[in-house]
Amino acid sequence: MSSKRNLTKHNPLLSPEQRSSHLGQRGAVLWLTGLSASGKSTIGYALEKKIVESGKIAYVLDGDNVRHGLNGDLGFSPEDRNENIRRIGEVANLFAEAGVIVITSFISPYRADRDQARETCGNERFFEVYLDVPVEVCEERDPKGLYKKARAGEIPEFTGVSAPYEAPESPEVRIDTAANDVDACVAVLFDKLASAGYLR
Ligand code: ADP
Repeated sequence: MSSKRNLTKHNPLLSPEQRSSHLGQRGAVLWLTGLSASGKSTIGYALEKKIVESGKIAYVLDGDNVRHGLNGDLGFSPEDRNENIRRIGEVANLFAEAGVIVITSFISPYRADRDQARETCGNERFFEVYLDVPVEVCEERDPKGLYKKARAGEIPEFTGVSAPYEAPESPEVRIDTAANDVDACVAVLFDKLASAGYLR
């Protein structure tokens, strides 16, 4: 990868423990994964709001703030999807280092990519959250009309239609968003963070 010559590492003056004790929270990454329309953005932003309203810092990384800027050069081929997730993992890790609760909202269809993100961010503070909903339900919801376009052949390599989705095998959290409303899904995630000591 990039040349590491002439790079000198500076040690922070705060240990992770000191940082979290000053901030009153610990950095974590909630990696939401699931089909298009499974609820990642809806739940991600509602969770962000709930955490921020409780006086803590959370931030959603999603297509809008990542695909158009940092990853604006990437498409949807397997290689580009891999690089997309790799960069998001690196950014999520930096936010978590800073003490933020990061919520990522990407389909992230490949198991190996999600595993790589886990490795980048640190297993201990990484929560893979699988929004487990049948593709038929997602297709019925179709809030952006994407399934319709994909079925009409207007969107190539559309996950769940013409590109694969590799479901998580042992996610930290699995939620059926067809059986639970948005508030219930958000409560599960908020409580998980609180009970694991990330919101002090
Ligand atoms: P994604 O980000 O995964 O593509 P979105 O959040 O954009 O999904 O869309 C999910 C759609 O499903 C929205 O229209 C939302 O209102 C609806 N929905 C119904 N029930 C839920 C639920 N429990 N959680 C999240 N979204 C839900």
